[in-house]
Amino acid sequence: CGIVGYAGSTPACSKPLEVCLQGLSRLEYRGYDSAGVALSAPGMQRVAVRKKEGRLDNLVQSIDQTPLPDATVGIGHTRWATNGAPSDENAHPHLSQNEKVAIIHNGIIENAPQIKQELLSEGYTFDSVTDTEVAAKLLGKVADEVIAETGHPDIFEALRRVARTFEGTFTILATDCRQPDVVVGARHDSPLVVGLGEGENFLGSDVAAFVAYTKQALELGQDEAVQISADSVTVTDFFGNDVELRPFTVDWDA
Ligand code: GLU
Repeated sequence: CGIVGYAGSTPACSKPLEVCLQGLSRLEYRGYDSAGVALSAPGMQRVAVRKKEGRLDNLVQSIDQTPLPDATVGIGHTRWATNGAPSDENAHPHLSQNEKVAIIHNGIIENAPQIKQELLSEGYTFDSVTDTEVAAKLLGKVADEVIAETGHPDIFEALRRVARTFEGTFTILATDCRQPDVVVGARHDSPLVVGLGEGENFLGSDVAAFVAYTKQALELGQDEAVQISADSVTVTDFFGNDVELRPFTVDWDA
């Protein structure tokens, strides 16, 4: 339902978490039943994830009690359940089997049941009943295939490949702890906006997610994918071709 992403500069610090929680509180107006965040930093063996059913406050309290590690990038989500009841397990982010990739998702992936059958037959296991976890497991599998092919992690290429196979509606953001300098996103029939900062960049399901930090923005077109780092923004179609950028200035006060 509500989506925020952040890529900042090293060293790891608390800002990615702050930006995600601030963005999620700004997106609360959309309504939601659970909330969660995922963080990556150099040296992490798996993505750090925390998610809770109910109010954003439940998530904040859980993090206050058991703090999350400092990070360089983060993603945050407020969920409006479509596939699976509201619960901690069904809340986003969802993880790949090796827990190196985490995703958040708005929308519905209609062909998730077929993809899930294939993954189950290959031995994948599931902690939730969401379409989003199916996407997370598939993205993790493809991310490993890209590493096997090219010799290095490329979560942007992996996300484009899986985005081409999804039917339905989606805005998806992903973080891979093997690439703790980037956050990637893709959209089809669901909005995604980039916020352009200085030494940091943002993603949001709408500008409310980052307007407290920057008013310079880029709107993603249909079937486009994006990779942000602290000092770069790359937008392509799902096949990796360059696309025309659509910059604008947010004209309301934070
Ligand atoms: N279909 C997903 C789920 O039920 C995404 C829901 C949303 O858009 O928040 O978890």
